[in-house]
Amino acid sequence: MKNLDRRDFLKFGTMALGTGIATTVMANVAQGTVPSNKNAATKQENPADLSPDEVFNKLMEGNKRFVENKRQSPNQDSARLIEIAKGQAPFAAILSCADSRVPAEIVFDRGLGDLFVVRDAGNIATPEEIGSLEFGTLVLGAKVLLVMGHTSCGAVQAAIKGGSLPGQIGSIVDAILPAVQSSEGQPGDQLENATKANVMLQIENLKASPVISQLITDGKLKIVGAVYDLNTGEAKLI
Ligand SMILES: [Zn+2]
Repeated sequence: MKNLDRRDFLKFGTMALGTGIATTVMANVAQGTVPSNKNAATKQENPADLSPDEVFNKLMEGNKRFVENKRQSPNQDSARLIEIAKGQAPFAAILSCADSRVPAEIVFDRGLGDLFVVRDAGNIATPEEIGSLEFGTLVLGAKVLLVMGHTSCGAVQAAIKGGSLPGQIGSIVDAILPAVQSSEGQPGDQLENATKANVMLQIENLKASPVISQLITDGKLKIVGAVYDLNTGEAKLI
């Protein structure tokens, strides 16, 4: 990796593409079954043209549509499927809870190839998650990294409750525990406070990655935290 920057990585990715797939796509474009690049999307839809702030707005606009029941369900048709089979360029990366009520593509009203999503119980950033998100940002080029907790999170509740847990569940609780401790004694609801503190804790864990911190320093990545409200569907920034 030392002498391999993102550009080289992308070049490699392009070289590694199966020519069969590329040929099929080109044939379909010629036949009009797949929109050409010119017609596939507006300039706004090309993440390479957007700043991290613009990408952030695009992401939050999708959540607004979801909350207002005005979903457009973009990029979910077969043309998009074929278009992105040759390579992905997700515009945002998300670390969120594995909770079945928080599916990122639905709550942000996006489709195939748009979001690089890492989910685990408690939206914790441990080495594998950090590595995945380094890949999604440095290599794939996501310009926003959103860490999103949610209301009534069972993993955070378990960390507050304490006690022994079966299997590997305890390792999740261990990763959340510092947030429970740091938010202890704060006014207001304990679960809400711990959930917010956990998002901030995981953001700090991600920022400790030299790869991610360098992208932020270079203005190539914006990292933000939010708590998703299970009742309203809104991703509220913190
Ligand atoms: Zn949860």
